[in-house]
Amino acid sequence: MWRSFLDVVFPAQCAACNALGRGICNACLPATAPICVRLKRLNVLALGPYEGAMRAAVLALKDGRRDVAQVLGAAIASLVRSGSLLVPVPTTAARRRARGIDGVVSVARTAAHIAGGECFDVLEQCAGDTQRGRSRAQRMAAHGRFRCDSNALAGLAVTLVDDVCTTGTTLEDCAEAIEAAGGRVECALVVAVALRETDGRPAAPNTGPWWRLRTTS
Ligand SMILES: [Zn+2]
Repeated sequence: MWRSFLDVVFPAQCAACNALGRGICNACLPATAPICVRLKRLNVLALGPYEGAMRAAVLALKDGRRDVAQVLGAAIASLVRSGSLLVPVPTTAARRRARGIDGVVSVARTAAHIAGGECFDVLEQCAGDTQRGRSRAQRMAAHGRFRCDSNALAGLAVTLVDDVCTTGTTLEDCAEAIEAAGGRVECALVVAVALRETDGRPAAPNTGPWWRLRTTS
């Protein structure tokens, strides 16, 4: 009731192009195949590059827009195999309190629900602030920020979910925390990837079939 009143006064708009409608409109979602990037020990699949509409989508997600989380969750679901265990990369407790939502957790839950998988919200960001606003050097140095206290992952293969992959440090840190808890990370799914240097070498994007890339690790 309150929601529908707000919708009349402030109708929802696409986070990227401002067209009327919830989340991200179809015209702004990438129509191309997902982008594949190989990190040191992890394959990453992204819906699109971190620019234009997908950058706007990630920023809206960080600002707590639930409608954007739902649309992105549905888009990520198309990359999820049925039965997969999705582990979202969490934001800090302070940011979650400020926004009232953890956007990435919301994306992972929606994707797991649609794809017939499960979402295990078992990681905790334990120190420091978010990556936003940090220099590239600071982000590269921010190791050991995640903790996985759960025994639920022991012996299981999981798929990480995050909003954006820039240096890859966050995903590698999360993979480390999951391995310390006895789990194994199969790959990572992200909304967007920044196509630039990773770890001193070019992050050669692979636009070929992603299932072929996944078998090389
Ligand atoms: Zn749009």
